[in-house]
Amino acid sequence: MSSDSAAVDSEIVVLDNGVPTAARVYDVMLNGKDNYAIDRQVAEASLSVMPELKEIALHNRAILHRVVRHLAAEQGITQFLDLGSGLPTARNTHEVAQEANPDAKVVYVDIDPIVLAHGRALLQDNENTRVVTADLRKPEEVLSHPDVQEMIDFSKPVCVMLCGILHHLADDEDPKGIVQALREAVVPGSYFFITNFTRLSDSPESEELEKVLLSQLGTGRVRTPAELEEFFEGLEILAPGIVPLPLWRPDEIVTDATTIGVRFMTGGVGRKN
Ligand code: SAM
Repeated sequence: MSSDSAAVDSEIVVLDNGVPTAARVYDVMLNGKDNYAIDRQVAEASLSVMPELKEIALHNRAILHRVVRHLAAEQGITQFLDLGSGLPTARNTHEVAQEANPDAKVVYVDIDPIVLAHGRALLQDNENTRVVTADLRKPEEVLSHPDVQEMIDFSKPVCVMLCGILHHLADDEDPKGIVQALREAVVPGSYFFITNFTRLSDSPESEELEKVLLSQLGTGRVRTPAELEEFFEGLEILAPGIVPLPLWRPDEIVTDATTIGVRFMTGGVGRKN
């Protein structure tokens, strides 16, 4: 999207109305091209507080790949509900899942219609994958969406993915209650994959970043480890637990786990038994 006002789909026209969005700011962090000047401004302000954010975004994508690969290839999960999926980028959920199992079903859900506009083009020929525009703050609407109902068989285990999205929900939007509602909607044997910004008690940057994001983007809650743990309530947490992202079953040895780049986001996988 090189101009600051662009049509991205024959049906959906996304205009730069001067309001940044989380999907597009994250796209900046991943060195994508689907963002506007206003998104780049928020990204720059965030990077000035925490220069490691681009590295952190890559860690977030890398754990997503490892988790989806593990669940599809080793736990036999055939359905993935990717909530707050973001703009298509390198190695999307459906690519990783369908590499392990070509029949795996993936539904991407995002509040930002730009995700649908870009996803449609990408998925034209993939009958096992859909993109849905819906608001996670209304989980019943997400779950009853016709495409979700058509693609996901809720009598079988599902992986519910909440990767980098719960920090975009404010406390008074009840993210914990939303996770609970999702937990009730899926059968035992289902998995929850969650990553989130984490407050680092030994570094002021995490609080500074929260201030920048809340004032300039409107969302971006940096939660304590105890608050994150609450999202996994009632689930059996898989080893190695809720950990800094690069430490979750790494493909390569992490030589220095003390940096902000490694520790600012934590995540894990929980199983409903
Ligand atoms: N899940 C991807 C990942 O981790 O690589 C993208 C994460 S991106 C940081 C967060 C995404 O959540 C954005 O695309 C944003 O539009 C979406 N989002 C924020 N609030 C949402 C809501 N209430 N309902 C659905 N999606 C939402």
